[in-house]
Amino acid sequence: MPYPTPRPPAPNGPATCPRCLAQVIWCTTERQKAQMVDRDRDERGNQAVRQDHTGRWLVRQLSKDRPTPEGAEALHMPHAATCTAPPLPVHGTRRRMSAGRVRVGVRPHRWQR
Ligand SMILES: [Zn+2]
Repeated sequence: MPYPTPRPPAPNGPATCPRCLAQVIWCTTERQKAQMVDRDRDERGNQAVRQDHTGRWLVRQLSKDRPTPEGAEALHMPHAATCTAPPLPVHGTRRRMSAGRVRVGVRPHRWQR
């Protein structure tokens, strides 16, 4: 293919967590990143969730400057905090921190043996 296939758009709105299948809402953060929050409202949560006039779900983390939900915002828990699936492995660290040249799964070149 002459060009890479376009990335599918990030999900937005009520759905299920792809890892633990819990009911979540995909929201867009202020930095335009996709983030899951738990479907149910939770006063102990720190994620202020609202829908904009186009129906897009937006999330804002409560901050020192704006510590309470405003307008139509409702508090939710970030799903990362409640996800029951085991946490994702941290990418890169193993490769980068291995000083001793880990060669698992790699067929070494002649000059590497
Ligand atoms: Zn989950």
